[in-house]
Amino acid sequence: MAANFLAVRDFVGANVGLMAVVKADAYGHGAVSCAKRLELEKVDWFGVALPEEALELRENNIETKILSLGGFWRGQEQMLLQQRITPVIYRIDAAESLDNFARESNQIFGVHVKIDTGMNRLGVRFDAVRDFADKLKGFQNLRVEGLMTHFAAADDYAQNDFSNVQIEKYNAAIEIFREKGFRPTWFDLANSPATIAHKNAHGNLVRLGGILYGLWRDILPQTVDNKPPVDLRPVMSLRSQVTLLKNVPKGESLGYSRTHTLTRDSIIATIPIGYSDGLPRLLSNKGGVIINGVFAPIVGRVSMDLIMLDVSEVPNVKLFDEVVLFGAKDGLEIPVEKIGKQCETISYEITCGISRRVPRRFKPEN
Ligand SMILES: *Cc1c(COP(=O)(O)O)cnc(C)c1O
Repeated sequence: MAANFLAVRDFVGANVGLMAVVKADAYGHGAVSCAKRLELEKVDWFGVALPEEALELRENNIETKILSLGGFWRGQEQMLLQQRITPVIYRIDAAESLDNFARESNQIFGVHVKIDTGMNRLGVRFDAVRDFADKLKGFQNLRVEGLMTHFAAADDYAQNDFSNVQIEKYNAAIEIFREKGFRPTWFDLANSPATIAHKNAHGNLVRLGGILYGLWRDILPQTVDNKPPVDLRPVMSLRSQVTLLKNVPKGESLGYSRTHTLTRDSIIATIPIGYSDGLPRLLSNKGGVIINGVFAPIVGRVSMDLIMLDVSEVPNVKLFDEVVLFGAKDGLEIPVEKIGKQCETISYEITCGISRRVPRRFKPEN
């Protein structure tokens, strides 16, 4: 992950700040551990989805600035101020409650304003920016430290016209804020795909999620040679081991609903991982693993805690052999993006879905 961070830092250059988006437990990778490592590289910001995620970082002695991308709920103002968590705002009532709180405690609240330039999701609609900025002027204890927007289709060159309109609307919003006397410090638009594919949209801060974790095949524009456009390495791999081996004769069926019937005498391995661990049930009779230098198929249904593999053709298969569900081993690789594709989703949903009972082990660095 640190190598990915440094590769992207090189790519964007020294004048652009880096926000590491560590929401959703760093896309399943472990937010506290990832944040600690990235602090060593002097990351400028962390981005989280909600204040509770920021609080977890603060409770683990993370000192770097944190932006709560989704804003906050009423009642969290004091916590934000005490913990130095910067909220994104996009509703006047939220700005007002922060301002009230800051005035009573005689402090200034730094906020980032999100402009909706085309997602039609979170943010102040671009045609309501002037009105919003006017109202913000009345709040003496707020300081607008940042202006941001978010791309809808930065990964798709066929939709560049739309992305460019988003950039224009964002720039117009900046002008309006400047006219009204605001002097923000941070200007950010780019997520991972925009950072790579839209160099004109770096502002002075890019917000990196996926590419930090080495996820790129299903979120960046296709490259000609199927290589990442900057040197990115996958960060997470999912590993288990053989917990039971048995010989099962031809004609017998496997698992729930008996969805697989053996067409030959087979060696079946049981592996202690299932959909409760985040291995999607959609991989039933579909997915595969790496074991002893070969691929072996998942046979039968993925159940809550267990799967079965047909290991009849696996050389020298033994109890406790390591099984790689995604990741690389012995010159073979199962990219997590491939799992996403098999499950009609993206890699993010797979890594985010690896549940808490799966231990995260962090490789020592050499
Ligand atoms: C999640 C998120 C990001 C990171 O997106 P990636 O595509 O994973 O880089 C950036 N900005 C905002 C506002 C987000 O919510």
